[in-house]
Amino acid sequence: MSVPLRSPSSFFTPVIAGVAYFLMASIALLCSRFEGGLAFIWAANALLMAELQTSETRYWPRVIAACGIASMISTALFGMGPAAALPMAAVNIAESLIVAILCRRFIPVHLADGSKRSLLVFILALCLPANMITGLGAAMVASALTPVKFSAAWLQWYSGHVLGGLTCTPILTMLLQGQVSRWIEQTTGKKKLEAVGLLMVFALITVHVFFLARYPMLFLLLLPLVVIAFRVGSLGAAASVVLLAIIGGAATVTGHGPLNMVQGSIGERTQLFQLFLAFSFVLSMPLAAELNGRRRLFQMLQASEARYRAIAEHSGDVVLNVSVDGVIEYASPSAAEQIGCAPGLLVGRPAEILVDPEDRPEVIRAHRRALAQPGDVQTVEFRPLLSTDGADWCEMVTRAMLDEQGLPIGVVSTVRDMSRHKARQRALQRVAAVDTLTGADSRWAFLEKLEQEIQRVARGSHACLLLIDIDHFKSVNDRFGHGAGDKVLSGFVERLRPGLRGGDSIGRLGGEEFAVLLTGTDIQRATMVCERLRNMVSAQRISADGVQTIAVTFSAGLVELDGKAGRAELLEAADKALYRAKNSGRNCLRLAA
Ligand code: GH3
Ligand code: MG
Ligand code: MG
Repeated sequence: MSVPLRSPSSFFTPVIAGVAYFLMASIALLCSRFEGGLAFIWAANALLMAELQTSETRYWPRVIAACGIASMISTALFGMGPAAALPMAAVNIAESLIVAILCRRFIPVHLADGSKRSLLVFILALCLPANMITGLGAAMVASALTPVKFSAAWLQWYSGHVLGGLTCTPILTMLLQGQVSRWIEQTTGKKKLEAVGLLMVFALITVHVFFLARYPMLFLLLLPLVVIAFRVGSLGAAASVVLLAIIGGAATVTGHGPLNMVQGSIGERTQLFQLFLAFSFVLSMPLAAELNGRRRLFQMLQASEARYRAIAEHSGDVVLNVSVDGVIEYASPSAAEQIGCAPGLLVGRPAEILVDPEDRPEVIRAHRRALAQPGDVQTVEFRPLLSTDGADWCEMVTRAMLDEQGLPIGVVSTVRDMSRHKARQRALQRVAAVDTLTGADSRWAFLEKLEQEIQRVARGSHACLLLIDIDHFKSVNDRFGHGAGDKVLSGFVERLRPGLRGGDSIGRLGGEEFAVLLTGTDIQRATMVCERLRNMVSAQRISADGVQTIAVTFSAGLVELDGKAGRAELLEAADKALYRAKNSGRNCLRLAA
């Protein structure tokens, strides 16, 4: 779920941000300038970072100007004085800008709310470039204007700003993104009560640890921190860190709490507290982010599961889950209708019982391919062994299911009745295989047969190819019309058929050109057959329209298959022989050279 960026247009929005920045900066300066230089605690920049991270860049100049002015006033009034006002405002703005720019660059929009990635980018940007670099500028100003040493000032800046940023930016970001108000709207009363109760218990334990306990018992805080991250999520984790910062910070600064048992200056004790706060943050926020991610994943999975369950249970196709070793683990309700077997009875049985034994190897290969190539879809057609409505062909589409490590744990398959489709396909093929005018094989079907015959001859049988062209057919069309020409063509094929044997084929290669495949026949016998055919055609005129009869002759070229010459070569050789026949006066046969 991505959160849209804010684009406030009101004049007051940056003004409110500026006032809030001024208050946070002034309180920090008044309460934590322990060594007279920089403040030890600094949460004001968290506000500016949250503002920048949650808004469109066109709003940035206004909010930067407002917070810059606020920074200058508070430094001039309560900090290192007017001389430091401008440079300190510059480093404060630089820190916030570096973090905001890096977050905008490296966090995809859809991960902007509470993901692990957004948290990691933010922590890295804040702790590494932003504060390491700006700390140098701040330490230069502090060491020039106050007695604090450069290195001590850098450390004060670094720890105060990192901690202020870590502690306050997440909760302020959530506030500005409207996550807090959304949580209030969308959470049930019971959950809200639990959240408030847990935070109150946490606040009480924190007060006890920092104000009342006689022994250093910081560890008491770990358990409630984790419990809140688990039960309330990112918002709860961010709120508990803020509570800890306020209560623990107040105690440490005023000389209470376990950190004051440590020898050292108040500054050192504050830094130690900040270190503890940093660890609390690193303990609870990533945990909450991880849980957030899992919750989101769970919701997506549930939605997807519901969607696919609805499809599986209402689909006419049979949906099967099959284990890696081929055992059915789930069968959809349509199995009862399609296979005639209650889904419950199929579970635990090997999936191959659904497949005709002849097709099993192919289906098993598809199953193995699906497992070996997860992500790919395998499609296989098979004849079913069980079927209620007489399905004779099924199509199975299979895809692997993976575990969380990406290893296949089985496949999900949909099985569809393909009988009607197959029957249509066969009918189409039949139509395409036959020439509609003459009933001879189509060119395509004849060439297929020729191809198969070439291979049979290569294994030792005999066959010949006869190429036929009707003589002067143009004049038939011219004299009697095209319709009569058509009748002559079909009559011509009928005339040839009785002269052929069962295994022989006749095909119409185009126009008035035909081919005959004489199987199991050598060239001598083929020559005799051809002469017989020629006599059969020329002996009797062909009826054109029931009244007219037309005398027809043909010329032919004959070639013997040798198992080596391909289709094209054979046709060419026969065609050359046919050409010679035409040139020799027509109505005759010539053999290929
Ligand atoms: P020859 O082969 O003896 O040299 O003379 P031809 O007159 O037969 O010449 P050719 O083979 O070049 O001409 C074939 C003619 O067949 C041309 C075309 O009009 C006719 N034809 C082709 N297909 C059909 C068809 O489906 N129906 C009809 N009626 N005529 C066709
Ligand atoms: Mg021709
Ligand atoms: Mg011709």
